[in-house]
Amino acid sequence: MKWRGRKGSANIEDRRGQRSTRAMRNPPGRSSGGRGARGGQFRMPRTKGGFVFLAIIVVGALALGVNPISLLNGSIPNSPANNSSTYQPQSNAEQDELVQFVSVVIKETEDMWGKIFADNSRRYDVPKVVLFSNKVRSACGAADASMGPFYCPADQKVYIDLSFYEQLRKQFGAPGDFAQAYVLAHEIGHHVQQLTGVLPEFNKARPRLSKIESNEWSVRVELQADCYAGVWAAYAGQEDLLERGDIAEALTAANSIGDDTLQKQMQGYAVPKTFKHGTSEQRKYWFERGYKEGNPAACDTFS
Ligand SMILES: [Zn+2]
Repeated sequence: MKWRGRKGSANIEDRRGQRSTRAMRNPPGRSSGGRGARGGQFRMPRTKGGFVFLAIIVVGALALGVNPISLLNGSIPNSPANNSSTYQPQSNAEQDELVQFVSVVIKETEDMWGKIFADNSRRYDVPKVVLFSNKVRSACGAADASMGPFYCPADQKVYIDLSFYEQLRKQFGAPGDFAQAYVLAHEIGHHVQQLTGVLPEFNKARPRLSKIESNEWSVRVELQADCYAGVWAAYAGQEDLLERGDIAEALTAANSIGDDTLQKQMQGYAVPKTFKHGTSEQRKYWFERGYKEGNPAACDTFS
């Protein structure tokens, strides 16, 4: 990806090197019930739908010993190799470059979605992107690097530990800067869903849904975010950011984080009714569809 020398985003919140303990002890506006998250006793304001939604996911997943954030973002199997300390970027220079890269990608998503929203007489409220190392506190609860990047609807922020990119390369076999860009564009896609009402609607419906229905709905949400990432890839092409092999890098990443592929890797077989993100084929299909159409209207995964 030809990203060097491009303008970066002003909406990067760099929390690397910060300890999250103080924030955890004293979160603004949080009831003390929040500390009970791991025990499953998570008290939360009923009015904040997205918060409830993600909190439930986090609580449920922690209780089951499953990777929680993977429920929302399609990332990581809970394997022994999945130890964040294994994936530390080697040098400060490398880190700095990654920060620059993230910043440029996010700026390009801001430009594209800003335009699309404006064309539809709406304002694109830009999300913040939080860079963290090891642990972070979000309005959706505490997270650590092993959970992978995620979007928190309650504070409308994307969270990423940059060591995830090394994991993407090594553990998931998905190298390349455009694989990294795809992950960001997918998370930004969730923010767009928050603004269009897709996420809030899912969130509102969840209590009424069976587990299987909820999974099916989740797959549609995730595939739409993949399609939005594809739409952004088309925009990156128009902006002359793409290099040969970039789209293939994104497709390799989409393939490597398909539910069937991840489950087979982890347990040797796949259980389709438990899928929450879609199969590798579906993820590739929707990314490619967004890329070919270059229009979010092509991303109706619900009908
Ligand atoms: Zn996702």
